[in-house]
Amino acid sequence: MNHSAFRNSQDTFLSDALAGLIANHPDARWHDVGFIGRTTPLRTADGDPAVAVISGGGSGHEPMHAGFVGQGMLAAACPGLLFTSPNAVQVSEATQWADQGRGVVHVVKNYTGDVMNFTVARNAAEAVDTRTVLVADDIATDGNEDGPGRRGTGATILVEKVAGAAAYRGDDVDTVAELGKRATENSRSMSVALGAGFMPTTGRETFDLEAGQMEVGVGIHGEPGTHTEQVDSASAIVNQVLEKIVPALELGQGDEVVCLVNGLGGTTPLELSLLFGEASAQLAQRGITVARSLVGSYVTAVNMHGASFTLLKADAELLELIDAPTSAPAWPHTLGGAKAVEPATITFQDELPSEGEENQWLTAFVERLQASFESLTELDRKAGDGDFGQNMEAAFGGIELPLRGTDTEILTGLAKRLLVLAGGTSGAVFGTLFTELARAESLADGLNDAADLIHELGGAKRGDRTMLDALIPAAEKARELGAKDPDAETLQALFAAAHAGALDTEDLAAKKGRASYLGDRSKGVIDPGALVVSWLFGGGPLSTR
Ligand code: ADP
Ligand code: MG
Repeated sequence: MNHSAFRNSQDTFLSDALAGLIANHPDARWHDVGFIGRTTPLRTADGDPAVAVISGGGSGHEPMHAGFVGQGMLAAACPGLLFTSPNAVQVSEATQWADQGRGVVHVVKNYTGDVMNFTVARNAAEAVDTRTVLVADDIATDGNEDGPGRRGTGATILVEKVAGAAAYRGDDVDTVAELGKRATENSRSMSVALGAGFMPTTGRETFDLEAGQMEVGVGIHGEPGTHTEQVDSASAIVNQVLEKIVPALELGQGDEVVCLVNGLGGTTPLELSLLFGEASAQLAQRGITVARSLVGSYVTAVNMHGASFTLLKADAELLELIDAPTSAPAWPHTLGGAKAVEPATITFQDELPSEGEENQWLTAFVERLQASFESLTELDRKAGDGDFGQNMEAAFGGIELPLRGTDTEILTGLAKRLLVLAGGTSGAVFGTLFTELARAESLADGLNDAADLIHELGGAKRGDRTMLDALIPAAEKARELGAKDPDAETLQALFAAAHAGALDTEDLAAKKGRASYLGDRSKGVIDPGALVVSWLFGGGPLSTR
């Protein structure tokens, strides 16, 4: 993979990025001993001095931790270098700064370097009453008691939320720490990666993974997981993860959980939604209710293409703290939860007739089209956005041939398919063409009405490199012939006119549609929409010419 990153230089990447982060943060200021602190007073809901919850860790996991600085969550965050724990001075300075005389709770992810530096920092800030909540939720590192123990991953933000909300409501330092501990002890996580991330400071991938393989149980720095295996379906991946987390938390019938489906930085929101749907449905099958859900990229590993799953076994108090409002910009404004996963497909009533006489004209057209989805996409890829064939397939794929019924019936059915099933410009434009053809008294009227309407619809003129470059010559020819029905002779004449118009689009630069963004680069490629118009009149070999 040829990766890159937005940066001025490897050396200044982190400081440049942090400067931008703070400039966009409504309640954060940079302290040049190396921490980000709130600008607003560290007070409880009643306006009294509050226990301060602070955290820190290697950078590269944003929005954690800086995005969770705010009222009701963190008082300060100490960012280390990329994937490197913060140093003890940063942490002790932040601790002393944050203390309001009521004590400070450190939320520490369980990594040797983090644990050490927070410990040294506490010793250095001995005048402050500190407590530590060690987050250790990554089940892939379970059974590692002789070593450093479970890693701290996705659950960290739930712990920060619970502890931060407790501090804001006025709890004392012991209670805040106890609640934070309860949140981590009741949480387990597991991550899966389909692709490594790219380190903007070193120019290296975070780990090696062969194409088609996935790393199961991967860490949030790209540490290896339990094993590497062939990429499986989302449903199987989620099942594999839940098979580990559910027994570890002794979850069963009637239990409620907070479910965090977290992107590792290079995963699309749609993929995360899909994974959440799977997780929620599979939890429901096990009798477990998702009381609250968070779906998004909160604890990232630069731009790793992966996802982590965290479940927190909930009780009423933990849920209350999760629900409490916070001004931290990265915490979602509202949480999901307790909703069944229902199918989200569009229902469509096909109006194509299933009986009647075989319709040769429109059967030939659809047959041609069905054999050409890929080559049409190819043309739109060269000069457009590459979805034209897909849009045609959405409308015409799956139609059983031969078509039966009258021209009017079939044209009506095809128009509906285009308008409902196809997307893009083509759905609207070809939907209009077929609607007009179905409605008109004669072929000549239908083609001319359609050309006029499509011109009004999208403003395209002849020569703009659209389907009108084939439709207008065909409409003119039909008018000249006084064409009423699509008999063989008429079709042949219309094909000649339309096909010549379609071929001429090769020399035109697109002025409309998504191809227009390419300007002259769209030249040298036939407009696929114009080609399809010509196929309506048959003729020619089965190719894109
Ligand atoms: P999109 O541009 O939304 O990706 P499609 O790929 O579905 O649209 O369709 C592209 C085709 O639509 C082009 O080949 C062209 O023939 C046609 N087209 C684009 N813009 C217009 C327009 N303004 N009027 C008529 N046809 C158009
Ligand atoms: Mg397109």
